[in-house]
Amino acid sequence: MPPTFPQQPLTAEIIAIGSELLAPDRSDTNSLWLTEKLNGIGIEVKLKTIVGDDDARLEEAIRDAVRRSRVVITTGGLGPTEDDITRKVAARALGRRLLLDEKVLDWIKARFESFGRKMPERNSRQAMVIDGSEVLDNPNGTAPGLFIEHENTAIALLPGPPREMRPMFESFVQPRLAEKSGSLRVVRRVLRVAGMGESALDELIAPVYLQYENPQTSILFNQTEVEIQLTANSRTDAEAEALLDRVSEQLEERLGKAIFSFAGETMEEVVGLKLAVGRYSLAVAESCTGGLIAQRLTALPGASKYFIEGVVSYSNESKTRTLGVEPILLLEHGAVSAPVAEAMAEGVRTRAGTDFGLSITGIAGPDGGSEEKPVGLVYIALADDAHTEHRKLNLPGDRNLIRWRASQAALDLLRHRLI
Ligand code: AMP
Ligand code: MG
Repeated sequence: MPPTFPQQPLTAEIIAIGSELLAPDRSDTNSLWLTEKLNGIGIEVKLKTIVGDDDARLEEAIRDAVRRSRVVITTGGLGPTEDDITRKVAARALGRRLLLDEKVLDWIKARFESFGRKMPERNSRQAMVIDGSEVLDNPNGTAPGLFIEHENTAIALLPGPPREMRPMFESFVQPRLAEKSGSLRVVRRVLRVAGMGESALDELIAPVYLQYENPQTSILFNQTEVEIQLTANSRTDAEAEALLDRVSEQLEERLGKAIFSFAGETMEEVVGLKLAVGRYSLAVAESCTGGLIAQRLTALPGASKYFIEGVVSYSNESKTRTLGVEPILLLEHGAVSAPVAEAMAEGVRTRAGTDFGLSITGIAGPDGGSEEKPVGLVYIALADDAHTEHRKLNLPGDRNLIRWRASQAALDLLRHRLI
């Protein structure tokens, strides 16, 4: 029995505060770490905001966040300097007073004394706490954090430096939030698809995933590959997995072997494993990809079990000399052609004495295209002892992407042969 529709997860948002985070050379890493932690206790992050040290905008950001989310976490702006405005602005956004907490003040003074120093006057502002909040100790710095239950929302104000923020979140905030979320589990699964663009994929699978609110499905082009991301929530991991299984089985019915990975594995991992399990050997001959397939496969530990040889054969002369491609083929069909791709695959296979020979020849651009043979035209071929097959591809993208997609398609051709 599939589990019934479970309760909604708590929704959270994260506000990263600090003008430095808006500069081109700094990024907000706190929210990445926090998102993983929140997901781990069944809380879904719906929105992230980065705000500079700007009173009005920060006040607006906190107000909006508290209105729409059950959990709000801010990081940064708790230091002792003029630009550290989080405490003051949060108090205003919540309509609460800011009070001097003597205990916190004593603790900060004592911390300075332990280093043999006197507390600078400006650090006393770190002892200002929002009325009704709980003070969170900071063993790694002077800025304490604050935790406030305001109307229906839990708000945590945490320091910016990761080494202060992380332990504070883990010791104080996480247990309190875990209790509120009722240990709901959020589990994610990534399916990867080959040989299909985003839109074509969506057209095919939207009728399936639109039937389900849980898991939530998103399709995205992740740098180089099309991924289907499924996010399920349930009371237990097993229930969430069952929800994921139900949808991924239906997706598989529609997509068949186009799904090459069910747990986020890369194409080369999938192909490498199949080669290793079947005890097959492989040699590759690459022209326009310049060794990309060889690089991808040999980046994996254990590749020596199946990867015998890779030839980067760029010029016509090399295709003949190294791979034994007949000059007449090059003359009649050109280097970017089906007969040459097949001859390259057969040539490298013979030369290396392997079970499979895999080849690529194409035009990666931006120059070198013609009306007859445009940029993005790629031939891939696969040879084994019985026969040789090729595919003609017209790949979109810039030089990098065309090269990557060509390597992906060639590995995928081999994957299909190995199924
Ligand atoms: P603050 O609490 O605003 O004084 O933060 C001080 C330092 O913490 C900054 O200079 C950053 O190095 C670091 N920091 C602040 N916010 C973040 C963030 N969102 N992600 C990573 N580091 C941060
Ligand atoms: Mg700051």
